Amino acid sequence: MSQAVVTRFAPSPTGYLHIGGARTALFNWLYARGRGGKFLLRIEDTDRERSTPEATQAILNGMAWLGLDHDGEVVSQFSRVDRHAEVAHALLENGHAYKCFATQDEIQAFREEARAEKRSTLYQSPWRDADPSTHPDAPYVIRLKAPRDGATVIADKVQGDVTIRNDQLDDMVLLRSDGTPVYMLAVVVDDHDMGVTHVIRGDDHLNNAARQQLVYQAMGWDVPVWAHIPLIHGPDGKKLSKRHGALGVEEYQAMGYPASGMRNYLARLGWSHGDDEFFTDEQAREWFDLAGIGKSPARFDFKKLENLCGQHIAATDDAALLHELDEFLTATGQAALPNTKTSLMQTAMPFLKERAKTYPELLDKAAFILSDRPIVPDEKSASALDTASRGILNELTPHLQNASWSRDALEQVMNQFAENKGTKFGKLAGPLRAALAGRAATPSVFDMMLVLGRDETLARLSDAAAA
Ligand code: GLU
Repeated sequence: MSQAVVTRFAPSPTGYLHIGGARTALFNWLYARGRGGKFLLRIEDTDRERSTPEATQAILNGMAWLGLDHDGEVVSQFSRVDRHAEVAHALLENGHAYKCFATQDEIQAFREEARAEKRSTLYQSPWRDADPSTHPDAPYVIRLKAPRDGATVIADKVQGDVTIRNDQLDDMVLLRSDGTPVYMLAVVVDDHDMGVTHVIRGDDHLNNAARQQLVYQAMGWDVPVWAHIPLIHGPDGKKLSKRHGALGVEEYQAMGYPASGMRNYLARLGWSHGDDEFFTDEQAREWFDLAGIGKSPARFDFKKLENLCGQHIAATDDAALLHELDEFLTATGQAALPNTKTSLMQTAMPFLKERAKTYPELLDKAAFILSDRPIVPDEKSASALDTASRGILNELTPHLQNASWSRDALEQVMNQFAENKGTKFGKLAGPLRAALAGRAATPSVFDMMLVLGRDETLARLSDAAAA
């Protein structure tokens, strides 16, 4: 039986959950969820100066919004320092680490000399092979006794085999002289103890992987499967910046993009499955694999994000969408939809959701439902309600009073009326939109009339005619 998959997302809580982090989380989540595995969350809060509880909360909120649920408790890396130190001592015991008593000045002097002699400045400690009986009673760090010959090969599922000559890796410090473990050790110990089988993360950590792999080997632990994903670039191919959309995911939530569209888009940022652009979560979980991750940086493309979000809104079940709208309003501190409007909203949903890329766009289309009489036309639509148009609305009203309230019947009445007036229905649309919604851009006049019903429609028309 193959080993159960365990992935993790290990953000440092030093800021919001940005697009790159969210994508890393998503890839790990998809990989685990598609294989009946576990997806764990570890907050890498060892840097006490830069880690904040607010940032941790922002990361948790972002993940919750994206629906990236993790298994088990959130692990705090900082809470595990004793265990990290224990492993440093275990390495000392098993001969894969040593105490180094070199002072900062000595290390500095070594580097200057190496530089002057044009040798590698990687520190080579004289304590590596020292007899413990010669150890002074002085502060020391614990260093890894890294192999000096040969090479370390990272068998990366995205980058292929990446070979790093061991003479380019120094004997890294595992435990500082104050007894605190370094981050590189903490990551390995945590991943091992958490049973992580696959490390999927940004390729800015590829260099770390070589040093981390040496720690796994020194402890005799299984090395996880590595997959280092290229970072995300802006549309111009340059490093992603705020200008390009490198915002916190909470800002996308606030702009009203649906989480399903965001997941779909993030999945496509660097991963592909044939030519598929639009897919459901279920498909993503089924299809996601490491082989589909590209080797070159993905480019962030707002248009594509919007396009996918529009498709997801259109594909969402009406009742579910209504629920999402409510969640959006709550999350952004806006008033909930009034109860009196929910059934109209539900009826209108099939056309409201067409071509809306965000929740605010959808709500904007629903303005004719959400506003109450008397409808106050905005500046643009007010001009469609001149004296002549008001007269026409007045004349139209009796025809609608007796029409049966179906699309066909209404279309027939309107077209007939327009024909009698020697005009086209298109000419009537402006005043009707102004009367029914107070706007120039609205859903179709017939859609609005059918949702509002006869009484409300006629009342709005006579309000406008009388204005
Ligand atoms: N804490 C690291 C970061 O936020 C990730 C470490 C890892 O995934 O191994 O970049």
